[in-house]
Amino acid sequence: MKKYRVFSLANEIGISTTELIKYLKELGIEVKGNLSTIDEENANIVKDLVLKDKESRTKREKEVKGNIKIVEICKHLNISFKFLIPYILKWGLVRENINEEIPFPVAARICNSFKKPITDILPPLPKNYKTRPPIVTVMGHIDHGKTTLLDSIRKTNIALREKGGITQKIGASEIEFEGKKIIFIDTPGHEAFTEMRIRGSFVTDIVILVVAADEGAKEQTIEALNHAKAANVPIIVAVNKIDKEGADPDKVRQQMANYNLLPEEWGGETIFVNTSAKTGIGINELLENIILISEIEELSKSDEKRPGGTVIEAKLDPRVGPTANLILQAGELKCGDWIMVGETYGKVRMLTTANQKQVKEVEATAPVEIIGLKDTPLPGEILIGYKSEGQIKEKIEKLEMAKKEKKQEKPISLDDLFEKLEEEKKLNLVLKTDTYGSLEAIKSVINSLDTGDIKIEFVHTGVGSINESDILLATASNAIILGFNTKENPMVKKIPERSRVKVFLFDLIYELQEWVVRFVKGMVKPEFVENTIGRAEVKQVFDIGGLGLVAGSIVREGKIVRDANAKVFRGSKLIGEGKVSSLKRFKDDVKEVLEGYECGIRVEGVKEINEGDIIEVYELKEKGS
Ligand code: GDP
Repeated sequence: MKKYRVFSLANEIGISTTELIKYLKELGIEVKGNLSTIDEENANIVKDLVLKDKESRTKREKEVKGNIKIVEICKHLNISFKFLIPYILKWGLVRENINEEIPFPVAARICNSFKKPITDILPPLPKNYKTRPPIVTVMGHIDHGKTTLLDSIRKTNIALREKGGITQKIGASEIEFEGKKIIFIDTPGHEAFTEMRIRGSFVTDIVILVVAADEGAKEQTIEALNHAKAANVPIIVAVNKIDKEGADPDKVRQQMANYNLLPEEWGGETIFVNTSAKTGIGINELLENIILISEIEELSKSDEKRPGGTVIEAKLDPRVGPTANLILQAGELKCGDWIMVGETYGKVRMLTTANQKQVKEVEATAPVEIIGLKDTPLPGEILIGYKSEGQIKEKIEKLEMAKKEKKQEKPISLDDLFEKLEEEKKLNLVLKTDTYGSLEAIKSVINSLDTGDIKIEFVHTGVGSINESDILLATASNAIILGFNTKENPMVKKIPERSRVKVFLFDLIYELQEWVVRFVKGMVKPEFVENTIGRAEVKQVFDIGGLGLVAGSIVREGKIVRDANAKVFRGSKLIGEGKVSSLKRFKDDVKEVLEGYECGIRVEGVKEINEGDIIEVYELKEKGS
């Protein structure tokens, strides 16, 4: 075994011999002086230790320096900038570029919420950060009391009740409890919540999961729970309807514990509060706990002035035009400010607060209704303030250029899925089956599969048909959906994001099992089908010397597209096939020609073509996409 002298090892590691001797002492290795020897095993141990210490020292130095580039955080969390923006916005910071910086203590807290810390000890927040009200969403199964709970909270705690109280809702309400503000999103339920998340935005800080004590956890309870978990948001369970006969709050605790929400009183980390939305029991305790969690989470925002926020709801009001309800999370917003919201923009004409007051100016964090946008934005889209209309136009131009460069977002393909699997070594699944029996059976089968270094995680499992919530959840968590003896609910077709999710259906357990194994091994190959885009009839054929044949044609059906695959038919006989290598309208090269128009088509490699032939153009599509 190799031997090291103390001084040469110190040299190699890059520390002084005195320091090295200290380290060795700590490890219980006694040495006499610089010339003493250490064996290789101990040398390696001490090397590791010093390296680790050095690393944390550099980290600490970074903390002292204060800022960290956003790109570093994206790398650390392995997420895109787009996905990170809402988490940054929560701290009152508007950032548009991945090379901009945010304070290290804020980054450290964001990373903690993803359960991927970048430092052992949380450094204190900078001095210009002040506490802010939490933003709370109420979720849970239908009829478990979400609306009643919100009403009961609002009735007793409206922050500033003026002009006869609330007459019209603006998407979120502000209440005051023991001198502290809390903002509630008015629309309960997880659809609004998830849709916002899919668009890459997220405002909620705390989820109240309402579970009726007489019924216990139901399908949507678990869905809601999984949505909140996937969004890294702390959950408080309100065990509601405690006043009812047959209420069994302990049973609810037991059920939730099975889903990894272990009650605090049982040694876990989740707060459970028994409530009655009807009689008011437990409401104060619930609010106290919301405040407690905001303190633990140190919900705060910077005093930077640039306005930023997230849309909760938006509509086109026939009288005043596009109206957006949003939560202002950063800076100050004034009438006359130029703002961009998602893809639309405008000048703020009117600002209305949660208590129906028209104001000239709003300061974050607060719900606010805005009038003045050119178009109606979508829930979850982000508001950013600009100095002038010119600046916004520049921004829009840049975005459009980028869009042109970027190919249209395609439905996710199996190849994309494999690529992701390779990268992340993790396969997220949503599993739906016909019965609880088969659900448990399939879960245990999948859990016992040998999937090499690929980890399989169930984002959600449930019984019943594949519904909108499953699709939304799968989209938001990059999961694929497996259905066993179950179908897709026809409603899911409504979801525009539908095409971005892959659904695979099975009716034999061993088939599903084999499929998962083959999938993680990258052995499930995409199957392609031909999808006809259009047909053209050849009217006249020109031979252009070395360039080959050009078929002067008229488009009879659909459209002809340049670079698409084509087949040439004479009657039912296939004469030849190849790519549409040139497509012209008169003298101009064009990308596509629609039904009813004439054009010149050249099909690569086709040597013979006659008047009356049919050119059929098709694309290859992955089966099931
Ligand atoms: P949501 O669908 O979750 O919004 O449920 P709702 O708030 O509409 O409540 C459904 C039903 O349960 C209504 O008839 C409520 O009056 C009733 N309810 C809600 N909370 C309580 C409660 O704490 N105790 C009792 N007894 N009934 C409740």
